[in-house]
Amino acid sequence: MVKLQSGNELVFRVAIAIPVYRLFDYRPPEQFELAWIKPGIRLEVPFGNTKKIAFLVECIQHSDIDIGKLKRVERILDEKSLLSAKDLALLHWASRYYHHPLGEVFSAAFPVALRQGKAAVIQTEKHYVLTESGRAIDSELLQRTPKQKSVLEKFQSQPKGLSVVELSEWNQNWRVSVKQLVEKSLLELVSLGCGANTVHAIIRNNILQCNFEQQAAIDRVSDSLGQFGVFLLEGVTGSGKTEVYMQIIHAVLKRGQQVLVLLPEITLTPQLEERFRQRFNVSIAISHSKLTDRQRATAWLSMQSGECAILLGTRSALFTPIKNPGLIILDEEHDASFKQQEGFRFSARDVAVVRGKLLAIPVLLGSATPALESLYNVDKKRYCWLHLSERAGNAKAPLLQLLDIRNKKMREGLSELLIADMRRTLAKNEQVLLFINRRGFAPTLICHSCGWVARCGCCDANLVIHYELGLLRCHHCGQEQRLIKQCPACKTGDLTPLGLGTERVEKVLAEVFIGKVIVRLDRDSTQRKGSLENYLQQINEGRVDIILGTQMLAKGHHFPNVTLVVILDVDSGLFSIDFRAPEKLAQLIVQVSGRAGREEKPGRVIMQTRQPEHPLLTTLISEGYSHFAKSALAERKDASLPPFSYQALLRAQAMDAEMPMLFLEAVALLAQEHSKGHTHILGPVAAPMARRAGFYRYQLLFQSSRRPELHGLLDLLMPEIEKLKHARKVRWSLDVDPVDLY
Ligand code: ADP
Ligand code: ZN
Ligand code: ZN
Repeated sequence: MVKLQSGNELVFRVAIAIPVYRLFDYRPPEQFELAWIKPGIRLEVPFGNTKKIAFLVECIQHSDIDIGKLKRVERILDEKSLLSAKDLALLHWASRYYHHPLGEVFSAAFPVALRQGKAAVIQTEKHYVLTESGRAIDSELLQRTPKQKSVLEKFQSQPKGLSVVELSEWNQNWRVSVKQLVEKSLLELVSLGCGANTVHAIIRNNILQCNFEQQAAIDRVSDSLGQFGVFLLEGVTGSGKTEVYMQIIHAVLKRGQQVLVLLPEITLTPQLEERFRQRFNVSIAISHSKLTDRQRATAWLSMQSGECAILLGTRSALFTPIKNPGLIILDEEHDASFKQQEGFRFSARDVAVVRGKLLAIPVLLGSATPALESLYNVDKKRYCWLHLSERAGNAKAPLLQLLDIRNKKMREGLSELLIADMRRTLAKNEQVLLFINRRGFAPTLICHSCGWVARCGCCDANLVIHYELGLLRCHHCGQEQRLIKQCPACKTGDLTPLGLGTERVEKVLAEVFIGKVIVRLDRDSTQRKGSLENYLQQINEGRVDIILGTQMLAKGHHFPNVTLVVILDVDSGLFSIDFRAPEKLAQLIVQVSGRAGREEKPGRVIMQTRQPEHPLLTTLISEGYSHFAKSALAERKDASLPPFSYQALLRAQAMDAEMPMLFLEAVALLAQEHSKGHTHILGPVAAPMARRAGFYRYQLLFQSSRRPELHGLLDLLMPEIEKLKHARKVRWSLDVDPVDLY
């Protein structure tokens, strides 16, 4: 390789993933290939006493620091940037918009393995498959070589073939027999790249005959391929949104382009993956946090290189570079998990829209219960609204009913009327789904005699009773202690569990519905790998009568035989101080309800309440989500809350009780100096949970009717905040467009 001597005066300005706003200057390595030096390449640089991976931002002629004092880049890791100019523009935009250090934004765009400096090569697993004759041959012909026979039979039961890893898991001594079978031309080795998209072989199975609304949505988006546009597909649960996605994806694949599909939850990826694989004859990459670093890097690189045609992933997959981008889809776009709540706090939905604009491709947002922000953008004609008003096929919308439980006889949260209703449903061999949004046995342990309550020592929170584990556990910091029998305060009183959690409901269900199979789905019961998949399979095979669970159940699942859905305690969501609480509750109710009657049998939803006249519930039931959303938006407008104003929240916390307040007061003072008339500086105040995991927490809210003014203020403020003397004594973070004020 020819190495070029560089000009002496060149300086590399790089971003490093550390929480400071500045960039760093380095001298180039002694020798390097000039052609490699492009923004976005990864470098290894000395930093303090260690080495770090850095991202080249630009090459400049002069540094503010004396060039002689600059350290040298140690190693250049990429021969060319893995990110396109548009990807780089997106990262720069995100860093500016979220006022987040560029190095951390870059880092978030790369999979862990590449962040650590691993080589950017796709490591495809070696994969063996049967040849034509291997498929045709009768294994009995190998009677005299039983090892080969057994290997052949294994392959004949695995039409997709087996990887080296899978073979080793199956039988440690596979190598010799496999080699012999390869020599006999019964097996062959293939590398599982994805293969280019060939136009005639994209579709595997028949596409469904779409109804009028589905077809209109498909046509509308398909007609706008190749240009930017945002589409909000509002389709009631079970209306066939996925079918719409798939037919639009087909149109994109036919153009030889790739598709990025983002989902809120890991648990939903296998379902969708399976539907996509059945439909499309192209390579599909998957990316979410349960995969290994290597798997994620492979998915990332195979989209970057154009080898895979579809990427299914969660929030962090948003920044994956795409060689031939054609479309971005966000399913369940209202879901809060599209907002990253720590570190680089970005909204995958909002960034996806910006990315679509940069790439000049359409962005399709889908939901049965769109976010108020998205509906507002439809009103403002920024998004194009597509509507599926009815369930697809023969399924009908479920019937929603309130069950007034005031003064009714209750059995651990279940009213007698409800129990009777559940019995009738079970008698027809149909499934019942019960929703309660609280894990554990009960949220409070109280002394019946003196009123003592089990509190977390580190948080402003009660300890939750976990009866099965014999523990009291804090759901905020994870602290736990043994479940006690005697009141530590008065030493005599009886300790009583107060309130309902999934464990407690499970217990009473087992007592009331003797002989029925009950499955509980919450974070505790599904912790073991594969257990959720197992439960879901049991449910779909009809081996379960009652499904009980938390919001894990609300999203996307398709349980054909569930005809009754019960929301046990809808009231607990009605009295939150969070201005987004009504929206979240309405979405939850509609989403949970959407699990009822998804096929031939009609579904019903029962909500137990002591607030049967509450306007949120009555509007939702009699007029549906769209009407609820309209009135909720009107309320936001009257109160000048988002989306009618723009917010940024500065949080600070410290072990020291005073420090966060002092810090935020200093920031507020600075902000007041810079602020113009339309931006309000609210606080500082204690966070709604003022103490958590031992930290005292405070917050300062910026709210403005004008977005540019708010961002102008933050631009001025952020560099100065870093320099404040209290800034080093607290942990602080800025959250632009916060969705959760906690
Ligand atoms: P959503 O994503 O809107 O909740 P799905 O795409 O999961 O809905 O569709 C719900 C069910 O309706 C699926 O079983 C799907 O196969 C079926 N379906 C979708 N579109 C049609 C159609 N046009 N005709 C018949 N069945 C359909
Ligand atoms: Zn007591
Ligand atoms: Zn705690």
